[in-house]
Amino acid sequence: MKNINKTRIITIDGPAGAGKTTVSRELASRLGCVYVDTGSLYRGVAYEVYRCNLNWHDDAELDTLLSSISFELKLHHGGLYRLFSSGQDITDYIRTPEITMLSSDLSAKAAVRQALLGFQREIAKISDAIFEGRDMGTVVFPDADYKFFLSADLNTRALRRYSEMNGSKTLDEIKQAIELRDNSDSSREIAPLKPAEDAIMVDSTNLNHGEVVDKILSYINQN
Ligand code: C5P
Repeated sequence: MKNINKTRIITIDGPAGAGKTTVSRELASRLGCVYVDTGSLYRGVAYEVYRCNLNWHDDAELDTLLSSISFELKLHHGGLYRLFSSGQDITDYIRTPEITMLSSDLSAKAAVRQALLGFQREIAKISDAIFEGRDMGTVVFPDADYKFFLSADLNTRALRRYSEMNGSKTLDEIKQAIELRDNSDSSREIAPLKPAEDAIMVDSTNLNHGEVVDKILSYINQN
């Protein structure tokens, strides 16, 4: 039975290009809850590091930056959120290839993960939510009501990304970039990308987004 004093938290983890974002958004709209893309927070940190031209290998410099960062997720139309950093909307700047790779490098730093942990847990106190990321079920919300790990084979994930892009990269380049990022996300010491022991595994290689959503909803409705 659901504890009425507690918000309902659903976690969706998985590698890049597995369809987490589309599936999480659709799920949030079907369940009438908030959707939180935690990758955008790591990207936001990367953007600030990039903007300040910071030597992030220097722990003291990184700590100073992290303590000055002030993020806010503001609801936009269509149930989408925009990321504000110290009042500035940075949503349109955090998806470049440079920021993508830098966010993965920075996500291996304990100070970065620690700085974002409280922010993510505070959101979870306010509202029922779907949290999408890499360590949602393992570290940030080990007691989540439902945990899913979404995967798909590398070729399928690269093809999906390729069809979303404007042809600025070849399929091979996309595949290599995804593989590099997955390897670094899975091999880092702190909060590596991996399924929680109690996560439900969903392989989306041969499923479209709607079918994945239906599968997840049917699990939630039965349990
Ligand atoms: O999900 P997205 O591709 O936007 O995430 C960007 C990067 O942020 C990932 O490659 C990963 O290194 C990091 N990340 C993380 N933990 C999360 C979400 C994202 O380490 N919960």
